[in-house]
Amino acid sequence: MAMWDPGVTPCAVCGKPVMDKSDFLAFTCLGTLPQAYEHLDDSVVHQSCLSGWEQRDDFVKHWNMAVRYSSLAPETHLLRVENGRVEYRRK
Ligand SMILES: [Zn+2]
Repeated sequence: MAMWDPGVTPCAVCGKPVMDKSDFLAFTCLGTLPQAYEHLDDSVVHQSCLSGWEQRDDFVKHWNMAVRYSSLAPETHLLRVENGRVEYRRK
């Protein structure tokens, strides 16, 4: 999982620092994402930025496909839930 220094590590979507875990998602390094999403590999994002991102659905599709062919647990699949919010799948 990506290293996160609260208030320092920038969001991979907006570039602003991610301050706290109330608006936070972290991604491990898969190394198999398409070039358009490589900047999200091993990154931290504001959950609100990812959820409102115009490329959200395409990224979620590619992330989940990359996870499927990795050794990561099924809980690392992303889901788009109500209001477009993106979160990890719960067990
Ligand atoms: Zn952001």
